Amino acid sequence: MPALILDGRSLAAELRTELLARTSALRDSGIHPRLVVVFVGENESSNSYVRNLARTGERVGVDVSVDRVPETARLEEIRFRLERLHADPATHGVMLQQPLPAHLPIREIADAIPAHKDVDGTHPTNQGHLAFGSGTEYVPATPAAVMLLLERSPHWPLRGRRAAIVGRSIVVGAPVAWLMIAQDATVTILHRESRGLQQYLKTAEVVVVAAGSPGLVRGEDLMPGATVIDVGTTMVNGALKGDVDFESAARVAGAITPVPGGVGPVTNVALLRNVVKAAERSQVARYAAPKAT
Ligand code: NAD
Repeated sequence: MPALILDGRSLAAELRTELLARTSALRDSGIHPRLVVVFVGENESSNSYVRNLARTGERVGVDVSVDRVPETARLEEIRFRLERLHADPATHGVMLQQPLPAHLPIREIADAIPAHKDVDGTHPTNQGHLAFGSGTEYVPATPAAVMLLLERSPHWPLRGRRAAIVGRSIVVGAPVAWLMIAQDATVTILHRESRGLQQYLKTAEVVVVAAGSPGLVRGEDLMPGATVIDVGTTMVNGALKGDVDFESAARVAGAITPVPGGVGPVTNVALLRNVVKAAERSQVARYAAPKAT
């Protein structure tokens, strides 16, 4: 039987409709959800991601503005740009675009993102909530997209399922693992130094690949019927390639995401959903604040 295609574009369209209703309600009460993206230097795929984000923002009623910072900026400058947004009532979401230039370590900057506006879940407090399983404030966008797609797969719910994740970055692999553990899956995390990748993949009912290595996983590596989520996006000769060899994998998998058209379109809606959540919370805070006399 051919694999079920987990279509990110149609899921994104559904989520956009839901978001538009929420932003319309916010606008009726005078709140215009706004995201500021602090973008350091130049990066082709980041440019394209942020352009798409702005386009999706227009469709769902979220203003997306980009604060461009030169590549040569020092760490203190980036921290200042982020910290000054803490008390800005017109900004509901703040995101630091990654990857950063090599001289700017994310771990020395992430805590400057205002935690209550940290819509991509990068601040150590929000990362901690995710790992601790203690009332996640904002789930990072790409892992959230992975989970939204998994919810539509034949292997949902994940309780007791064997899952393998290739990649352990703090942006994708590690948070996906925490989210799956919270769903009671049995999770194996694989990375560049893992030996015998195939032996783990072959027994996994759910496989998530976020390695940045085009074609790394092939059909013969998979267990028949597995659900395969391909997060990888690498430009190869002007075309976007995933980490999974789609053609061979689709012959073996039970369900699979394409690249493009899988995780990517859902990711930017997931991020904007967090901005809307932050804007709704600001509304609650506004009504809860004591009246000035
Ligand atoms: P990263 O470089 O920070 O991490 C890659 C991880 O994969 C590391 O843990 C590394 O050890 C592991 N890895 C690399 N090669 C491997 C191999 N041959 N075998 C086993 N493990 C291997 O990358 P990232 O930021 O996590 O991104 C991963 C991929 O996902 C990239 O292609 C990126 O462009 C893509 N991405 C897509 C979206 C989206 O919305 N679709 C969002 C973020 C990242």
